[in-house]
Amino acid sequence: MIEKIGCYIGLILDPQKIILSLISLSISFFTLLLLKKTGVSTKLKISLIYAHLTSLVFPFVLFGTHVGCGIACMPCYNNVLSLVSYALPTTLFISTISSFFVVPSLYIITNKKRIIKSGHLYRFIKKYSEKMKISEPKIYVIDKAEPIAFSFRTFKSAIFLSVGVLDILKDREIECVALHELSHLKEKSSITKISLSMLKLFSPFSLISGFNIDSTDEEKKADNFVLKEQKTKKYLILTKKRFQQFKCYKK
Ligand SMILES: [Zn+2]
Repeated sequence: MIEKIGCYIGLILDPQKIILSLISLSISFFTLLLLKKTGVSTKLKISLIYAHLTSLVFPFVLFGTHVGCGIACMPCYNNVLSLVSYALPTTLFISTISSFFVVPSLYIITNKKRIIKSGHLYRFIKKYSEKMKISEPKIYVIDKAEPIAFSFRTFKSAIFLSVGVLDILKDREIECVALHELSHLKEKSSITKISLSMLKLFSPFSLISGFNIDSTDEEKKADNFVLKEQKTKKYLILTKKRFQQFKCYKK
């Protein structure tokens, strides 16, 4: 144990802490193994991601909290481990809050004046959210010429469509985009996507084990939902083509 006057840097030498940390790290490892199994429900997937991250960060907090630095003991503040120990969970916490609340709020606030409250698309989305038993999302229009569509389901449900989507696509194709986004809302894809990016950001294990549950699954699910509801591939293919074409024009 390294000890200074008024400043204790209690590191690895505490057996209880080592045991607790090992338990925590094994939980983190097993949650990751469970995550790699296919057919895990979205809800379980998200819980597992957070269980993994928390149990991974816990040992850092554990060792970090023992660094009993008094106000008079300035050198402790330069201790890298203590800084990491406090910074990591704090970063985790702040990023979670910001991904779940701040980013969607910013989009909602900046596009507040451009909300669709009537017309065909409005009625279409209203009808389907009732049918799918999800809360009716607000529809916002983003002032961009290129076709962009995405959705959030954190504290509020919202679908964002760019002016480009509404301009370039025909009615049935816009319905196709709406159905795709509604499926994401139903499957809580935005939460999965955010959690997955958190996992990639904070867990080194996710790289080591060749961990790759990306969002392609979610995209396939959303497209299959479109096919099921529209009963034809035609509009989905056309819509994708138009999104693609725009990318080509831009180049
Ligand atoms: Zn999608």
